[in-house]
Amino acid sequence: MRNIHSKLPNVSTTIFTVMSKLASEHQAINLSQGFPNFGGDQHLINLVSNAMNNGYNQYAPMPGLLSLREVIVEKTNTLYKSNYHPESDITITSGATQAIFTIISAFVNTGDEVIIFKPAYDSYEPSIELFGGTVIPIQLLAPDYSIDWKEVARKITSKTKMIIINTPHNPTGTILSKQDMFQLEILLKDTDIILLSDEVYEHIIFNGQEHQSIARFPGLAERAFITASFGKTFHTTGWKMGYCLAPKDLMAEFRKVHQFNVFCSNHPMQQALAEYLKTPEHYLSLPDFYQEKRDLFLSLIKDSRFSYIPAAGTYFQLLEYAAITDEGDVAFAERLTKEHKIASIPVSVFNMNQQDDKVLRFCFAKTEDTLKRAAEILCSI
Ligand code: PMP
Ligand code: GLN
Repeated sequence: MRNIHSKLPNVSTTIFTVMSKLASEHQAINLSQGFPNFGGDQHLINLVSNAMNNGYNQYAPMPGLLSLREVIVEKTNTLYKSNYHPESDITITSGATQAIFTIISAFVNTGDEVIIFKPAYDSYEPSIELFGGTVIPIQLLAPDYSIDWKEVARKITSKTKMIIINTPHNPTGTILSKQDMFQLEILLKDTDIILLSDEVYEHIIFNGQEHQSIARFPGLAERAFITASFGKTFHTTGWKMGYCLAPKDLMAEFRKVHQFNVFCSNHPMQQALAEYLKTPEHYLSLPDFYQEKRDLFLSLIKDSRFSYIPAAGTYFQLLEYAAITDEGDVAFAERLTKEHKIASIPVSVFNMNQQDDKVLRFCFAKTEDTLKRAAEILCSI
C-alpha cells in the first residue's frame, strides 16, 4: 500500500455529487444539487458561439476582459452606489468556487483563524484547512438561522484573519439585513480582518427585498472580497464563470495567486457576457422569475406534512419533516430518493457535528412540470 498523508483526511466526495448520482441511479426527480433543469437564454448562447466563430479562442487577459470588467463594475456601482474601478478592483474567475479558493489561498496562513457560519457552503472549510487555517464555526439555529453578533464578537481573537458570510444564504434561503451589516461593521472596525462576502445569489431575492451587498457599506467594502457567479444569474452553472471584487491592494494579492492558479478564465464566454450584461433586464428580471417558481412550489405542497418558512432568497427551499418521521435527515433523503423517487440535500452535512434538525433542502430552479411532479410526490409522503 502506498503511504499517502492526505491533506484532507476527513473529506469525502461532496454531497452534491453523492445525491445527484443517487438520483440518476434511481431515476428520481433531482431537486438536490443546485442547478436549473432549463436552458439559459439562446441569445447568450449565440453570443458565445459567435465569439468562438470570430476567433476569440486564445487566452483572455489575466484579470479578465476589460470590457467585461467595465460592464460589471458599472452594474455594481449603479446598484450598490459603490466605487469599484475596472482596472484594479475586479478579476474574472472560473466560477465563484475558484474565486473563494484563491482568496483563501492568498491570505490564510498556518494558525490563522477563519470564522464561518454553519450550515455553510461546503467548499469553505476544506479550502481554509488546506492552507493551514483553523476553521472557527458558528452554528446558526433553525428555523430562522439568524446571526447572533454577540457570539461573533466572542469568537474574534488576535488570530482571526477572515470572516466568511453568504447572503442570500445557501442552504437556508435566508438573507442578511442592513442591521446585520451595521453590526458587522462595528465588530470589524479597527481590525485588519478580511471579509469574504459570498454573494452568488445576489439577484435571487424575493418579496421586493433589497440585496444588502457589502458593496453598499464603505466601512466593510474597504476590507472585503465579494464573490459572484454567472452560473446562478444566467442559468449556466456548467460554464463556471464568475468574478470577484475588492479594493486594489487586496485584489493585487489575489491576482498574484490567480495568475498561477488558472491564469485566465474562458475567453469566448467573457466576450459574450460583456455584450449580454449591457442589458440590465437580463439580471433585474431574476427575482420575479424565481419568486414565481418558489411560490408555485410552496402552493403545491401547502397541504403536505412538510413545514417551512418561505425562502427569502436563493433557489433553495428548506422543508422540515419532523411530523413525518424521526429518521435522520441523511437516511430520510436517501429513502426519499430510492423509494419515492425524489432527491434532496440533507442539511445536517453542512452543520457543526452533523447537527440534525430534520430539514432537507430542495432546489426549485426547475420547470413547472418538474415542480408539479415533485410536489405530487411530496404531498403523498
Ligand atoms: N457559493 C455558494 C453559496 C454557492 O451556492 C455556489 C454554487 N455552488 C458557489 C459559491 C459556487 O459558484 P460557482 O458554481 O460559480 O463556482
Ligand atoms: N452550489 C450548488 C449547490 O449548493 C452545487 C455546487 C456543486 O455541486 N459544487 O447545490
